[in-house]
Amino acid sequence: MTLGLHPDELALEARAREFANKIVRPRAAAIDRDEQYPWDIVRALADAEFVGMTIPAQYGGQGRSYLDAVLVIEEMAKACTVTGRIIVETNMGAISTVMAYGTETQKRLAADLVLAGDKPAICITEPQAGSDAMAMTTRADKRGDVYVLNGRKHWITGGGVSRLHLIFARVFDERGDDLGIGGFLAVRDEAKGLRVVRREHTMGLRGMPEGELAFENLEVPAAMALVPPSGFRRGFADLMNAYNSQRVGAGTVAMGIAAGALEHALDWVKTREQFGRPIAEFQGLQWMLADMQTQLTASRLMLYAAARSRGPGGSAFPDPMLAAQAKIFASEAAIRIVNDALQLFGARGYSREFPLERMARDVRMFTIGGGTAQVLRTLVAGKMLGLKLPQTRDGYVEAAARPMAAE
Ligand SMILES: Cc1cc2nc3c(=O)[nH]c(=O)nc-3n(C[C@H](O)[C@H](O)[C@H](O)COP(=O)(O)OP(=O)(O)OC[C@H]3O[C@@H](n4cnc5c(N)ncnc54)[C@H](O)[C@@H]3O)c2cc1C
Repeated sequence: MTLGLHPDELALEARAREFANKIVRPRAAAIDRDEQYPWDIVRALADAEFVGMTIPAQYGGQGRSYLDAVLVIEEMAKACTVTGRIIVETNMGAISTVMAYGTETQKRLAADLVLAGDKPAICITEPQAGSDAMAMTTRADKRGDVYVLNGRKHWITGGGVSRLHLIFARVFDERGDDLGIGGFLAVRDEAKGLRVVRREHTMGLRGMPEGELAFENLEVPAAMALVPPSGFRRGFADLMNAYNSQRVGAGTVAMGIAAGALEHALDWVKTREQFGRPIAEFQGLQWMLADMQTQLTASRLMLYAAARSRGPGGSAFPDPMLAAQAKIFASEAAIRIVNDALQLFGARGYSREFPLERMARDVRMFTIGGGTAQVLRTLVAGKMLGLKLPQTRDGYVEAAARPMAAE
């Protein structure tokens, strides 16, 4: 079933599958067990030109589409979740944001790092500002031709291994006026004042460090402020719009884990015998398999549609509604599919000698990171109702007090 893919897309998918089976799959269990970022895989991905595929050719990339990235992400994630996420973040997220809004210098800096294998970090979440990202307190104070950043972020993917950091901070001008939330580019090791405080101890995705970062008088040259066309004041919306590519990527990693788990389950039910016959002959299990496949196909179609879409006003990024719905659906379906695959393995599903328990731990995160399933539902409902739904207590009180719009 090609689901409307063109021959060159199918060829890319086949190349990614071959790479994943040969290079990535044999390493997946050790990456999880040792909790080490897989630098060997990163080098191989860079050599095979799977990183930076979406970067335009003029900056050294291949100018590939988000759908191309989705096809590669799925194949990698079937074998190893960490590798799937590396493909997301070297083709979507921060690198897409820089390519859309960056200056020439910023684009060249980011492209060179990513094409050499760097997985950029996006730094938004803070201990007191999770879903409520606007509550962030990290600040960037303008002082002459630099911004001085102070604050703390946590759960930053790649903390300690990423070099390029896209840091979100509340911007203040030299008079101390609040200009809104902006993005700043800093390269770890070159920037004094960017410190990795600690690594989170995670349930899954153990080869990908999640770090707590501190910015202590981190000086970012003004030329490294990432200012979307609408300026700082409305720039946060533009920066978050760029995040829609990351959402499609994250949903695809979840879908890829589910696809990998289903492949394992299909092989298993055909060979495992109980009551004198392969367990695949039990209708109860056949219906489980059919439900798993149906949810997987639906997820895949939604992710393809989101990857192919463009947001309002010819945005360079996927449509926010489609991206949110695809991530909600694919991440929740993937948790169910992987859980059912584990069930089909019986006790072996619960063993660390089989990949299902690793997949079950890995897949759990995708309804949380990159916008929780609840907050994304709020985004979808808000757009359906034509309302920017206020989430603060006062916000609801004020909205309730507003007169209803005339029919
Ligand atoms: C593995 C992993 C990687 C991550 N990587 C990054 C990264 O690279 N960069 C980064 O900046 N952040 C990252 N995050 C952070 C992630 O984006 C946040 O965890 C997420 O936005 C939720 O914030 P929180 O954890 O503080 O939960 P909270 O916001 O405290 O939410 C707690 C619960 O309340 C619900 N909730 C909150 N507000 C509402 C509401 N208005 N309506 C309904 N329900 C609500 C949430 O859905 C959730 O179930 C990562 C997280 C994980 C787990």
